[in-house]
Amino acid sequence: MNESKNSVLKNPTEQMLDESTMTSFDHVIINANIATFSVQHGFGIETSDNVDNQADSNPYGQLHHAAIGIKNGKIAWVGTQDQITAHLPKYQASQITDVNDKWITPGLIDCHTHIVYGGNRSNEFEARLQGVSYQDIAAQGGGIVATVIATRAASIESLFAQSEKRLLALIKEGVTSIEIKSGYGLDLDTERKMLTVARQLGEKYDIHVSTTYLAAHALPPEYKNRADDYIKQVCEWLPILHSEGLVDAVDGFCENIAFSTEQIRRVFEVARSLDLPVKLHSEQLSDIGGSALVAEYKGLSSDHLEHLSEEDIKKMAASNTVAVILPGAFYTLRDTKLPPIEALRKHQVPMAISTDCNPGTSPLTSLLLTMNMGCTLFYLTPEEVLAGSTVYAAQALGLSNKGKVEVGCDADLALWDIARPADLAYQIGLNPVQGIMVQGQWRDTI
Ligand SMILES: [Zn+2]
Repeated sequence: MNESKNSVLKNPTEQMLDESTMTSFDHVIINANIATFSVQHGFGIETSDNVDNQADSNPYGQLHHAAIGIKNGKIAWVGTQDQITAHLPKYQASQITDVNDKWITPGLIDCHTHIVYGGNRSNEFEARLQGVSYQDIAAQGGGIVATVIATRAASIESLFAQSEKRLLALIKEGVTSIEIKSGYGLDLDTERKMLTVARQLGEKYDIHVSTTYLAAHALPPEYKNRADDYIKQVCEWLPILHSEGLVDAVDGFCENIAFSTEQIRRVFEVARSLDLPVKLHSEQLSDIGGSALVAEYKGLSSDHLEHLSEEDIKKMAASNTVAVILPGAFYTLRDTKLPPIEALRKHQVPMAISTDCNPGTSPLTSLLLTMNMGCTLFYLTPEEVLAGSTVYAAQALGLSNKGKVEVGCDADLALWDIARPADLAYQIGLNPVQGIMVQGQWRDTI
Protein backbone atom coordinates (compact mmCIF):
# COMPACT_ATOMS: atom_id res chain seq x y z
CA MET A 1 0.00 0.00 0.00
CA ASN A 2 1.37 3.38 -0.96
CA GLU A 3 -1.42 5.55 0.30
CA SER A 4 -0.44 8.27 2.74
CA LYS A 5 -1.40 8.09 6.39
CA ASN A 6 -4.23 10.56 5.95
CA SER A 7 -5.76 8.91 2.94
CA VAL A 8 -5.73 5.54 4.67
CA LEU A 9 -7.03 6.46 8.08
CA LYS A 10 -9.57 9.10 7.21
CA ASN A 11 -13.12 7.87 6.81
CA PRO A 12 -13.91 9.24 3.36
CA THR A 13 -17.53 9.93 4.22
CA GLU A 14 -16.91 11.79 7.48
CA GLN A 15 -16.27 15.15 5.92
CA MET A 16 -19.49 15.23 3.94
CA LEU A 17 -21.89 14.43 6.74
CA ASP A 18 -24.29 17.16 7.67
CA GLU A 19 -26.84 17.07 10.45
CA SER A 20 -29.69 15.71 8.31
CA THR A 21 -27.50 12.82 7.20
CA MET A 22 -26.34 12.10 10.73
CA THR A 23 -29.91 11.99 12.01
CA SER A 24 -31.24 9.93 9.08
CA PHE A 25 -29.65 6.71 10.31
CA ASP A 26 -32.14 3.99 11.25
CA HIS A 27 -29.90 2.95 14.10
CA VAL A 28 -26.69 4.02 15.80
CA ILE A 29 -24.30 1.95 17.90
CA ILE A 30 -22.34 4.08 20.35
CA ASN A 31 -19.45 3.72 22.79
CA ALA A 32 -17.95 0.85 20.80
CA ASN A 33 -14.51 -0.56 20.27
CA ILE A 34 -14.48 -1.88 16.73
CA ALA A 35 -12.28 -4.36 14.89
CA THR A 36 -13.18 -3.08 11.42
CA PHE A 37 -10.89 -5.22 9.21
CA SER A 38 -11.14 -2.30 6.80
CA VAL A 39 -8.17 -0.99 4.85
CA GLN A 40 -9.71 2.46 5.31
CA HIS A 41 -8.92 2.09 9.00
CA GLY A 42 -5.43 0.69 8.52
CA PHE A 43 -6.07 -3.07 8.45
CA GLY A 44 -3.61 -5.06 6.36
CA ILE A 45 -1.26 -2.17 5.63
CA GLU A 46 2.30 -3.41 5.09
CA THR A 47 4.85 -2.07 7.57
CA SER A 48 7.91 -4.20 6.97
CA ASP A 49 9.58 -2.48 4.04
CA ASN A 50 8.65 1.17 4.29
CA VAL A 51 9.34 3.26 7.38
CA ASP A 52 7.00 6.01 6.16
CA ASN A 53 4.12 3.55 6.12
CA GLN A 54 4.55 2.35 9.69
CA ALA A 55 2.07 4.84 11.10
CA ASP A 56 -0.56 3.49 8.72
CA SER A 57 -0.57 -0.03 10.11
CA ASN A 58 -3.40 -0.60 12.55
CA PRO A 59 -3.96 -4.17 13.79
CA TYR A 60 -7.53 -5.37 13.24
CA GLY A 61 -8.26 -1.90 11.75
CA GLN A 62 -9.33 -1.13 15.31
CA LEU A 63 -11.16 1.97 16.44
CA HIS A 64 -11.72 2.96 20.06
CA HIS A 65 -14.53 5.12 21.47
CA ALA A 66 -16.29 4.85 18.15
CA ALA A 67 -19.79 4.73 16.70
CA ILE A 68 -21.59 3.18 13.73
CA GLY A 69 -24.50 4.63 11.78
CA ILE A 70 -26.79 2.12 10.03
CA LYS A 71 -29.30 2.79 7.29
CA ASN A 72 -31.35 0.36 5.21
CA GLY A 73 -29.43 -2.61 6.61
CA LYS A 74 -26.06 -1.20 5.55
CA ILE A 75 -23.26 0.51 7.40
CA ALA A 76 -23.76 4.15 6.48
CA TRP A 77 -21.09 5.72 8.66
CA VAL A 78 -18.22 4.76 10.96
CA GLY A 79 -16.60 7.44 13.07
CA THR A 80 -15.68 8.71 16.50
CA GLN A 81 -18.09 8.90 19.40
CA ASP A 82 -17.52 12.65 19.61
CA GLN A 83 -18.96 13.20 16.13
CA ILE A 84 -22.28 11.55 16.93
CA THR A 85 -22.77 12.71 20.54
CA ALA A 86 -24.35 16.07 19.66
CA HIS A 87 -26.95 14.35 17.47
CA LEU A 88 -28.05 11.70 19.99
CA PRO A 89 -31.02 13.68 21.43
CA LYS A 90 -32.64 13.58 17.98
CA TYR A 91 -32.84 9.77 17.98
CA GLN A 92 -35.48 7.72 19.74
CA ALA A 93 -34.10 5.52 22.50
CA SER A 94 -34.97 2.41 20.49
CA GLN A 95 -32.67 3.59 17.72
CA ILE A 96 -29.60 3.71 19.93
CA THR A 97 -27.51 0.79 21.21
CA ASP A 98 -24.97 1.84 23.83
CA VAL A 99 -22.48 -1.05 23.98
CA ASN A 100 -20.48 0.42 26.89
CA ASP A 101 -17.01 -0.03 25.45
CA LYS A 102 -17.58 -3.63 24.40
CA TRP A 103 -16.10 -4.87 21.13
CA ILE A 104 -17.81 -5.07 17.75
CA THR A 105 -16.47 -7.23 14.94
CA PRO A 106 -17.97 -8.08 11.58
CA GLY A 107 -20.37 -11.01 11.97
CA LEU A 108 -18.30 -14.19 11.74
CA ILE A 109 -18.30 -16.15 8.48
CA ASP A 110 -17.81 -19.93 8.34
CA CYS A 111 -16.68 -20.37 4.74
CA HIS A 112 -16.31 -24.19 4.43
CA THR A 113 -18.88 -26.49 6.01
CA HIS A 114 -20.70 -29.76 5.43
CA ILE A 115 -23.29 -29.17 8.16
CA VAL A 116 -26.16 -30.78 6.22
CA TYR A 117 -25.89 -34.56 6.64
CA GLY A 118 -27.82 -37.48 8.06
CA GLY A 119 -26.79 -39.58 11.05
CA ASN A 120 -23.42 -39.27 12.67
CA ARG A 121 -20.32 -41.39 13.09
CA SER A 122 -19.74 -41.40 16.85
CA ASN A 123 -20.08 -45.21 16.70
CA GLU A 124 -17.01 -45.34 14.45
CA PHE A 125 -15.17 -42.88 16.67
CA GLU A 126 -15.80 -45.16 19.62
CA ALA A 127 -14.93 -48.35 17.71
CA ARG A 128 -11.61 -46.94 16.52
CA LEU A 129 -10.70 -45.98 20.08
CA GLN A 130 -11.54 -49.54 21.12
CA GLY A 131 -8.98 -50.79 18.62
CA VAL A 132 -11.07 -51.58 15.51
CA SER A 133 -9.11 -50.71 12.36
CA TYR A 134 -10.28 -48.15 9.81
CA GLN A 135 -10.23 -50.93 7.18
CA ASP A 136 -12.58 -53.09 9.26
CA ILE A 137 -14.91 -50.14 9.82
CA ALA A 138 -14.97 -49.44 6.07
CA ALA A 139 -15.57 -53.15 5.34
CA GLN A 140 -18.59 -53.02 7.65
CA GLY A 141 -20.06 -50.13 5.63
CA GLY A 142 -18.64 -47.31 7.73
CA GLY A 143 -16.85 -44.13 6.69
CA ILE A 144 -18.33 -41.73 4.16
CA VAL A 145 -20.59 -44.46 2.76
CA ALA A 146 -22.40 -44.61 6.11
CA THR A 147 -23.14 -40.88 5.90
CA VAL A 148 -24.29 -41.21 2.28
CA ILE A 149 -26.70 -44.01 3.23
CA ALA A 150 -28.08 -42.02 6.20
CA THR A 151 -28.42 -38.83 4.16
CA ARG A 152 -30.19 -40.60 1.30
CA ALA A 153 -32.59 -42.25 3.75
CA ALA A 154 -33.47 -39.06 5.67
CA SER A 155 -36.64 -37.15 4.83
CA ILE A 156 -36.12 -33.49 4.02
CA GLU A 157 -37.72 -32.59 7.36
CA SER A 158 -35.43 -34.96 9.27
CA LEU A 159 -32.35 -33.70 7.42
CA PHE A 160 -33.34 -30.13 8.23
CA ALA A 161 -33.88 -30.92 11.92
CA GLN A 162 -30.55 -32.71 12.24
CA SER A 163 -28.63 -29.93 10.47
CA GLU A 164 -30.40 -27.06 12.21
CA LYS A 165 -28.72 -27.89 15.53
CA ARG A 166 -25.30 -27.45 14.02
CA LEU A 167 -26.23 -24.14 12.42
CA LEU A 168 -27.63 -22.84 15.71
CA ALA A 169 -24.39 -23.72 17.52
CA LEU A 170 -22.51 -21.57 15.00
CA ILE A 171 -24.99 -18.67 15.14
CA LYS A 172 -24.68 -18.68 18.92
CA GLU A 173 -21.00 -17.92 18.50
CA GLY A 174 -21.52 -14.89 16.28
CA VAL A 175 -21.76 -16.47 12.82
CA THR A 176 -23.94 -14.43 10.44
CA SER A 177 -22.90 -16.03 7.12
CA ILE A 178 -22.11 -19.63 6.29
CA GLU A 179 -21.20 -21.78 3.33
CA ILE A 180 -22.91 -25.18 3.12
CA LYS A 181 -21.84 -27.94 0.72
CA SER A 182 -23.71 -30.89 -0.72
CA GLY A 183 -21.71 -34.09 -1.28
CA TYR A 184 -23.31 -36.80 0.86
CA GLY A 185 -26.04 -37.58 -1.64
CA LEU A 186 -23.94 -38.50 -4.67
CA ASP A 187 -27.14 -38.91 -6.63
CA LEU A 188 -29.26 -36.18 -8.16
CA ASP A 189 -32.21 -36.36 -5.77
CA THR A 190 -30.16 -36.37 -2.59
CA GLU A 191 -27.77 -33.64 -3.75
CA ARG A 192 -30.91 -31.58 -4.48
CA LYS A 193 -32.32 -32.43 -1.04
CA MET A 194 -29.12 -31.30 0.72
CA LEU A 195 -28.94 -28.01 -1.19
CA THR A 196 -32.64 -27.40 -0.59
CA VAL A 197 -32.15 -27.87 3.15
CA ALA A 198 -29.20 -25.46 3.03
CA ARG A 199 -31.43 -22.83 1.39
CA GLN A 200 -34.23 -23.50 3.92
CA LEU A 201 -31.81 -23.03 6.83
CA GLY A 202 -30.82 -19.61 5.50
CA GLU A 203 -34.47 -18.64 5.10
CA LYS A 204 -35.60 -19.82 8.54
CA TYR A 205 -32.76 -18.15 10.40
CA ASP A 206 -32.46 -15.21 8.01
CA ILE A 207 -28.71 -15.42 7.72
CA HIS A 208 -26.64 -15.57 4.55
CA VAL A 209 -26.09 -19.10 3.21
CA SER A 210 -23.80 -19.69 0.23
CA THR A 211 -24.51 -23.12 -1.29
CA THR A 212 -21.83 -25.25 -2.91
CA TYR A 213 -22.33 -28.23 -5.21
CA LEU A 214 -19.91 -30.96 -4.09
CA ALA A 215 -21.14 -34.07 -5.89
CA ALA A 216 -17.47 -34.73 -6.80
CA HIS A 217 -16.82 -35.54 -3.13
CA ALA A 218 -16.55 -39.33 -3.22
CA LEU A 219 -17.38 -42.24 -5.48
CA PRO A 220 -20.79 -43.71 -4.58
CA PRO A 221 -20.87 -47.50 -4.13
CA GLU A 222 -22.96 -48.04 -7.27
CA TYR A 223 -20.13 -46.48 -9.37
CA LYS A 224 -17.32 -48.62 -7.92
CA ASN A 225 -14.35 -48.67 -10.35
CA ARG A 226 -16.28 -46.32 -12.69
CA ALA A 227 -15.09 -42.90 -11.58
CA ASP A 228 -15.19 -41.39 -15.06
CA ASP A 229 -18.79 -42.50 -15.51
CA TYR A 230 -19.66 -40.89 -12.19
CA ILE A 231 -17.96 -37.60 -13.10
CA LYS A 232 -20.02 -37.58 -16.31
CA GLN A 233 -23.14 -37.74 -14.15
CA VAL A 234 -21.81 -35.00 -11.85
CA CYS A 235 -21.36 -32.79 -14.91
CA GLU A 236 -24.91 -33.51 -16.09
CA TRP A 237 -26.55 -32.85 -12.71
CA LEU A 238 -24.88 -29.47 -12.19
CA PRO A 239 -26.86 -27.47 -14.82
CA ILE A 240 -30.10 -29.03 -13.56
CA LEU A 241 -29.53 -27.99 -9.93
CA HIS A 242 -28.18 -24.62 -11.02
CA SER A 243 -31.36 -23.98 -13.03
CA GLU A 244 -33.33 -24.64 -9.84
CA GLY A 245 -31.45 -21.85 -8.06
CA LEU A 246 -29.67 -24.20 -5.68
CA VAL A 247 -26.01 -23.64 -6.56
CA ASP A 248 -23.79 -20.64 -5.76
CA ALA A 249 -20.40 -22.34 -6.32
CA VAL A 250 -18.81 -25.66 -7.31
CA ASP A 251 -16.34 -27.76 -5.30
CA GLY A 252 -14.61 -31.13 -5.53
CA PHE A 253 -12.27 -33.44 -3.61
CA CYS A 254 -8.99 -33.67 -5.49
CA GLU A 255 -6.85 -36.45 -3.99
CA ASN A 256 -5.42 -39.83 -4.88
CA ILE A 257 -8.23 -41.40 -2.84
CA ALA A 258 -10.88 -39.26 -4.56
CA PHE A 259 -10.75 -37.55 -7.98
CA SER A 260 -7.89 -36.57 -10.29
CA THR A 261 -7.22 -33.07 -11.58
CA GLU A 262 -8.43 -34.19 -15.00
CA GLN A 263 -11.73 -35.39 -13.58
CA ILE A 264 -12.17 -32.19 -11.55
CA ARG A 265 -11.31 -30.15 -14.63
CA ARG A 266 -14.35 -31.61 -16.41
CA VAL A 267 -16.58 -30.43 -13.57
CA PHE A 268 -14.91 -27.00 -13.54
CA GLU A 269 -15.52 -26.65 -17.29
CA VAL A 270 -19.25 -27.06 -16.72
CA ALA A 271 -19.08 -24.56 -13.84
CA ARG A 272 -17.32 -22.08 -16.11
CA SER A 273 -19.97 -22.50 -18.80
CA LEU A 274 -22.59 -21.60 -16.18
CA ASP A 275 -20.51 -18.69 -14.86
CA LEU A 276 -20.27 -20.34 -11.44
CA PRO A 277 -17.16 -19.80 -9.27
CA VAL A 278 -15.09 -22.83 -8.24
CA LYS A 279 -13.16 -23.96 -5.16
CA LEU A 280 -11.48 -27.23 -4.25
CA HIS A 281 -10.45 -29.58 -1.42
CA SER A 282 -6.75 -29.74 -2.31
CA GLU A 283 -3.43 -30.99 -0.96
CA GLN A 284 -4.88 -32.39 2.25
CA LEU A 285 -3.20 -35.80 1.97
CA SER A 286 -0.93 -35.43 -1.06
CA ASP A 287 0.09 -32.96 -3.75
CA ILE A 288 -1.49 -33.81 -7.10
CA GLY A 289 -1.90 -30.23 -8.31
CA GLY A 290 -5.37 -29.24 -7.11
CA SER A 291 -4.48 -25.68 -6.11
CA ALA A 292 -2.78 -25.03 -9.44
CA LEU A 293 -6.00 -26.14 -11.14
CA VAL A 294 -8.10 -23.80 -8.95
CA ALA A 295 -5.74 -20.93 -9.73
CA GLU A 296 -6.04 -21.67 -13.45
CA TYR A 297 -9.81 -21.22 -13.13
CA LYS A 298 -9.35 -18.10 -10.96
CA GLY A 299 -11.17 -19.96 -8.18
CA LEU A 300 -12.44 -18.41 -4.99
CA SER A 301 -10.48 -20.69 -2.66
CA SER A 302 -8.33 -23.74 -2.29
CA ASP A 303 -8.92 -25.56 0.98
CA HIS A 304 -6.89 -27.77 3.40
CA LEU A 305 -3.42 -27.32 1.79
CA GLU A 306 -1.14 -29.21 4.17
CA HIS A 307 0.89 -30.54 1.19
CA LEU A 308 0.79 -27.35 -0.92
CA SER A 309 4.05 -26.44 -2.73
CA GLU A 310 5.55 -22.95 -2.91
CA GLU A 311 5.28 -23.06 -6.67
CA ASP A 312 1.51 -23.46 -6.41
CA ILE A 313 1.31 -20.82 -3.67
CA LYS A 314 2.65 -18.35 -6.23
CA LYS A 315 -0.11 -19.38 -8.62
CA MET A 316 -2.73 -18.83 -5.92
CA ALA A 317 -1.25 -15.39 -5.20
CA ALA A 318 -1.45 -14.49 -8.90
CA SER A 319 -5.11 -15.56 -9.15
CA ASN A 320 -6.08 -13.97 -5.80
CA THR A 321 -7.35 -17.33 -4.58
CA VAL A 322 -7.94 -17.55 -0.82
CA ALA A 323 -6.18 -20.30 1.17
CA VAL A 324 -8.78 -21.84 3.50
CA ILE A 325 -7.06 -23.46 6.49
CA LEU A 326 -8.98 -26.21 8.31
CA PRO A 327 -7.43 -27.09 11.68
CA GLY A 328 -10.39 -29.23 12.81
CA ALA A 329 -9.60 -31.97 10.27
CA PHE A 330 -5.88 -31.75 11.08
CA TYR A 331 -6.72 -32.23 14.76
CA THR A 332 -9.24 -35.04 14.30
CA LEU A 333 -6.96 -37.01 11.97
CA ARG A 334 -3.98 -36.39 14.26
CA ASP A 335 -2.18 -35.09 11.18
CA THR A 336 1.41 -33.95 11.61
CA LYS A 337 2.04 -32.16 8.30
CA LEU A 338 1.52 -28.44 8.86
CA PRO A 339 0.15 -26.23 6.07
CA PRO A 340 2.81 -23.87 4.67
CA ILE A 341 1.69 -20.79 6.62
CA GLU A 342 5.00 -18.94 6.36
CA ALA A 343 5.11 -19.31 2.56
CA LEU A 344 1.47 -18.22 2.27
CA ARG A 345 2.36 -15.10 4.27
CA LYS A 346 5.46 -14.47 2.18
CA HIS A 347 3.45 -14.50 -1.04
CA GLN A 348 0.56 -12.56 0.54
CA VAL A 349 -2.09 -15.16 -0.16
CA PRO A 350 -5.16 -14.24 1.91
CA MET A 351 -5.88 -16.91 4.52
CA ALA A 352 -9.31 -17.86 5.85
CA ILE A 353 -10.09 -20.48 8.49
CA SER A 354 -13.20 -22.59 8.90
CA THR A 355 -14.71 -25.41 10.92
CA ASP A 356 -14.98 -27.82 7.94
CA CYS A 357 -17.85 -29.19 10.03
CA ASN A 358 -18.45 -32.77 8.80
CA PRO A 359 -19.29 -36.11 10.41
CA GLY A 360 -16.06 -37.89 9.56
CA THR A 361 -12.97 -35.74 9.91
CA SER A 362 -14.16 -32.58 11.69
CA PRO A 363 -17.30 -32.87 13.82
CA LEU A 364 -16.71 -29.28 14.92
CA THR A 365 -19.37 -26.60 15.33
CA SER A 366 -17.32 -23.90 17.06
CA LEU A 367 -15.63 -21.23 14.98
CA LEU A 368 -14.12 -19.76 18.17
CA LEU A 369 -12.42 -23.08 18.97
CA THR A 370 -11.31 -23.26 15.33
CA MET A 371 -9.59 -19.89 15.81
CA ASN A 372 -7.79 -21.21 18.88
CA MET A 373 -6.72 -24.32 16.96
CA GLY A 374 -5.44 -22.14 14.11
CA CYS A 375 -3.20 -20.29 16.55
CA THR A 376 -2.08 -23.26 18.64
CA LEU A 377 -1.68 -25.89 15.90
CA PHE A 378 -0.67 -23.71 12.93
CA TYR A 379 1.00 -20.71 14.60
CA LEU A 380 -1.42 -18.25 13.02
CA THR A 381 -1.78 -15.00 14.96
CA PRO A 382 -5.04 -13.94 16.65
CA GLU A 383 -5.36 -11.17 14.07
CA GLU A 384 -4.90 -13.68 11.23
CA VAL A 385 -7.55 -16.10 12.51
CA LEU A 386 -10.07 -13.35 13.15
CA ALA A 387 -9.41 -11.85 9.70
CA GLY A 388 -9.74 -15.42 8.42
CA SER A 389 -13.21 -15.65 9.96
CA THR A 390 -14.37 -12.29 8.65
CA VAL A 391 -12.86 -10.34 5.76
CA TYR A 392 -10.95 -13.20 4.08
CA ALA A 393 -13.76 -15.70 4.72
CA ALA A 394 -16.03 -13.24 2.87
CA GLN A 395 -13.53 -13.13 0.02
CA ALA A 396 -13.49 -16.94 -0.06
CA LEU A 397 -17.23 -16.78 -0.73
CA GLY A 398 -17.04 -13.90 -3.20
CA LEU A 399 -18.94 -11.61 -0.80
CA SER A 400 -17.34 -8.21 -1.21
CA ASN A 401 -20.04 -6.52 0.91
CA LYS A 402 -19.49 -8.61 4.06
CA GLY A 403 -16.71 -9.28 6.58
CA LYS A 404 -15.77 -5.64 7.25
CA VAL A 405 -17.11 -2.75 9.30
CA GLU A 406 -16.96 -0.27 6.46
CA VAL A 407 -19.33 2.17 4.81
CA GLY A 408 -21.44 0.39 2.18
CA CYS A 409 -21.07 -3.08 3.68
CA ASP A 410 -23.97 -5.07 5.09
CA ALA A 411 -24.57 -4.27 8.78
CA ASP A 412 -23.76 -7.86 9.86
CA LEU A 413 -22.04 -7.51 13.23
CA ALA A 414 -21.14 -9.43 16.37
CA LEU A 415 -20.92 -7.86 19.83
CA TRP A 416 -18.44 -9.32 22.34
CA ASP A 417 -17.75 -8.94 26.04
CA ILE A 418 -13.97 -9.05 25.71
CA ALA A 419 -11.03 -6.87 26.68
CA ARG A 420 -9.31 -7.11 23.31
CA PRO A 421 -9.83 -8.99 20.01
CA ALA A 422 -7.20 -11.63 20.85
CA ASP A 423 -9.55 -12.94 23.58
CA LEU A 424 -11.65 -14.56 20.85
CA ALA A 425 -8.78 -16.88 19.87
CA TYR A 426 -7.29 -17.21 23.36
CA GLN A 427 -10.21 -18.42 25.45
CA ILE A 428 -11.23 -22.07 25.06
CA GLY A 429 -14.84 -22.97 25.72
CA LEU A 430 -16.05 -19.56 26.87
CA ASN A 431 -18.50 -17.85 24.56
CA PRO A 432 -18.31 -14.08 25.05
CA VAL A 433 -20.89 -13.18 22.40
CA GLN A 434 -23.42 -10.58 23.55
CA GLY A 435 -25.49 -10.29 20.41
CA ILE A 436 -25.50 -10.40 16.63
CA MET A 437 -26.88 -7.97 14.11
CA VAL A 438 -27.88 -9.14 10.65
CA GLN A 439 -28.65 -6.59 7.92
CA GLY A 440 -29.07 -3.87 10.53
CA GLN A 441 -31.37 -5.82 12.89
CA TRP A 442 -30.31 -7.07 16.29
CA ARG A 443 -31.26 -10.73 16.64
CA ASP A 444 -32.82 -12.33 19.65
CA THR A 445 -32.19 -15.90 18.55
CA ILE A 446 -29.04 -16.23 20.63
ZN1 LIG B 1 -14.48 -30.09 3.55
